[in-house]
Amino acid sequence: MGGNNIQRACNTVDSLKRTGMSSSLDILGEASVSEHEADEYQKAYLEMIPAMSAHMQAWTDVEIVDQLHGRAAPRLNVSLKLSSLYSQIDASDTKGSVHAIKQRLIPILECALEHHAFVMIDMEQYDYKNIILTCFLEILEESRFRHWPDLGIAIQAYLRDAFDDLLRIVEALKKRATPATVRLVRGAYWDYETIVADQNNWPSPVWLHKNDSDANFEHCMGFLFSEHPVIETVVATHNTRSLAAAMAIAESHKLSNQDYEFQMLYGMADSLKNSLVQRQQHLRIYVPYGETLPGMAYLVRRLLENSSGQSVLDMGLTHEQPVDLDKPEFSLHEEDKKHSVDDHFQNQSLYRLTETAERAVFVQALSQCRQQFGQVYPLTIDGKSYHTKQSIISITPASPEETVGVVASADQRQADAALASAKKAHVYWRRVSVTERANHLRKIASLLQDRRVEFAAWQIFEAGKNWREADADVCEAIDFLNYYADQAERLEQVAVDQSSGEQNTLCYRSRGVGLVIPPWNFPLAILTGMMAATIVCGNTAIVKPSSQTPVIAVKFVELIHQAGLPDGVVNLIAGSGADIGEYLANHVDVQVIAFTGSIAVGSRLINIAAQLHPGQTHIKRIIAEMGGKNAIIVDSDADMDEAVTGTVSSAFGFQGQKCSAASRVIVLDHIYDSFLERLVETARSLRTGPPEDPGNVMGPVINTQAHTKILSAVNDGKQQAQLALYDSVGHFGKGYFIPPVIFKEVTADSMLAQVEIFGPVLSVLRARDFDQALQLANNSKYALTGGVYSRDPDHLQRAKSEFNVGNLYLNRKITGALVSRQPFGGYKLSGTGYKAGGENYLLQFMDSSTITENTMRRGFAPIEVHKDK
Ligand code: NAD
Repeated sequence: MGGNNIQRACNTVDSLKRTGMSSSLDILGEASVSEHEADEYQKAYLEMIPAMSAHMQAWTDVEIVDQLHGRAAPRLNVSLKLSSLYSQIDASDTKGSVHAIKQRLIPILECALEHHAFVMIDMEQYDYKNIILTCFLEILEESRFRHWPDLGIAIQAYLRDAFDDLLRIVEALKKRATPATVRLVRGAYWDYETIVADQNNWPSPVWLHKNDSDANFEHCMGFLFSEHPVIETVVATHNTRSLAAAMAIAESHKLSNQDYEFQMLYGMADSLKNSLVQRQQHLRIYVPYGETLPGMAYLVRRLLENSSGQSVLDMGLTHEQPVDLDKPEFSLHEEDKKHSVDDHFQNQSLYRLTETAERAVFVQALSQCRQQFGQVYPLTIDGKSYHTKQSIISITPASPEETVGVVASADQRQADAALASAKKAHVYWRRVSVTERANHLRKIASLLQDRRVEFAAWQIFEAGKNWREADADVCEAIDFLNYYADQAERLEQVAVDQSSGEQNTLCYRSRGVGLVIPPWNFPLAILTGMMAATIVCGNTAIVKPSSQTPVIAVKFVELIHQAGLPDGVVNLIAGSGADIGEYLANHVDVQVIAFTGSIAVGSRLINIAAQLHPGQTHIKRIIAEMGGKNAIIVDSDADMDEAVTGTVSSAFGFQGQKCSAASRVIVLDHIYDSFLERLVETARSLRTGPPEDPGNVMGPVINTQAHTKILSAVNDGKQQAQLALYDSVGHFGKGYFIPPVIFKEVTADSMLAQVEIFGPVLSVLRARDFDQALQLANNSKYALTGGVYSRDPDHLQRAKSEFNVGNLYLNRKITGALVSRQPFGGYKLSGTGYKAGGENYLLQFMDSSTITENTMRRGFAPIEVHKDK
């Protein structure tokens, strides 16, 4: 690094100048997690540009350094990371992100213009690429910058779409008639990009083989030189072949050494740098400066890049043979195609939302749903629709005056009809083969996949989820369908030990009628998961959706009938939980109750299920998934950026209305104050508002009762602890909005630390050491999710064995469990059952029989059994 302050950076660039090299200065800091930090980042540039520029004006002219493209090159050249200028940067809100970034970028550019400095916009993670590129293209068009050539952008050749981006830039520059610069790099986030793509089942945006990146680098370089002088080229590489190729290609386009420049990183490949200077090449050194700790991520990226076995630097150092400088070719290796062919269960990929077309689909779906607002929906019993006198009016919590839909509400007569229908259908359905039942689930999954954005849009309106949360819920529903289909088929194959002269079989049998009672917070995923498990095991289902989200349930039941599920296998009965839900739970004909919701209702249903009613010949099976009071421990050596953003996302994602949400964060004394300060600023930066607008991370809470209850808990909390964050809620109109609330110095046994508030309220507790942190974390009647941010392997190991939770997350957020990858569910008062989305879940919906047949006939035993012995 080129020093930790401006003075030291001045010394560094002075010495570079003396050796015939120019510089580009980058203030280290990486992504800003709060708007306060984004302001600070902007301020750092606004202070650095005039100071450094004044310092450099005193330099004497050196032609090789100062002359470029036939004019005097600005002596001061700065590199800038746009993600640091807006803490809420997100591809789903590309427009809003571009707007917010430009608000802080334009003053920096004006300052650069005034002080004759060059600004190079760095390229970052792929998720931000289109935002960064759009900012650049829009700035090119701004009248005050139209005739300013001292602006550039980095393009990463390891991206498959790098060449297309260059075409867009050249087209814009041709219209603008003033050149700008492209710095061609290979890209420094390769590990990150490939891992993120792999984890999300996204196609990799980067070439998977370095050879392909190398080939693309030369391909892009050739194009850039061919477009001189519309575009001015910086070749940023330490790769000897690329350096040589650049010189040869430039020569073939009759470009002089002053028509392009090379860039290299400070502190690397010094002998290469010297030979370029000796050849009178223009060479600029990228000099990051700033504090070491915030700069750590930059240094680690460099370390990964340069220690890669495929790096030319490494190859040159470690291989005895000369490095092969043959022209790299595109190889299109097999792994590049792996995402398209795989029969094994794979989680549905979330929308990445980096593409304009993806976002347009959401906008269109939202508009189409809104056009259907206010429609009246029936119950479905035995495949027929029933309208009733009573109905549930479902509103959108972001603007309660708008009615999403009006859904028929069942009374006991309809409940009885649903029971009769389910009982009748069971006679047939239980005999349908497992494969056929599994294929029904797969068909439903496929139809849901076709309409997934529409289902996400309904949730945005009816549940108040933001785009990404709504998309994740639909994906999880699709996953449950496909996964339980596979699991049901697997259970058919379960083998037991055999012996001579007997045949043993373990088989599973459906129980009968299942009652499915989901909550409103995952209105599609949990409903679908519990329903799919019920029916794939040969039971039939009565689904009683939450009265907060009945429209999504109706739409889904419509879809499963379109998928050809026989009548009566799934019956939909909306209505009051306390009346109709309890009536059905009590009914002698119900064999299984699959419930997810609060401890209050869950424990009541467990009680009901335990009672024997006259004529009842079975014990009801109840699967009850309930609440949590989940804690994250932040250790004294935790990565602060990750701990802060992970905690904020765990606590305030979907307004804290997830059973898995963090509601306690236990911070080690040593870092308590600094963590709290960043936590508060980061949470304050989250935008709250109608979730239709993708720029709003936080939507409303579900209804007026929840709103009142949460605010009353906040009020009570003020008597127990200090409020660290609670911004006014006044300006949100009639919607049920509550921005993030944070309490500090919360004590272990207070209401704030013990009661599930189920809203955006986070309690920060102080722990003297890791022992106490674990003790505090376990001091809860719940055991659902938990997390630890730590770099200490011993502490992580202790958490694995001592932290009492169903789902433990180390160094990541504690929400967002994926079907099959993170089977989900808790113990203590958090739940009774096997984990949802895990291998054992289906066992709860069936009885099992072991059948043993004596196959010995007058002393004859089947020969194949003997062969095994
Ligand atoms: P809730 O308990 O109020 O309602 C859940 C469902 O039960 C709804 O469909 C409701 O209509 C029905 N119901 C209510 N009273 C009933 C009764 N007396 N008899 C039968 N049914 C009745 O919960 P909610 O507000 O919908 O959901 C939030 C709760 O769910 C939170 O406590 C949360 O932690 C929990 N939750 C747990 C998980 C998990 O997997 N552990 C997942 C999501 C939500």
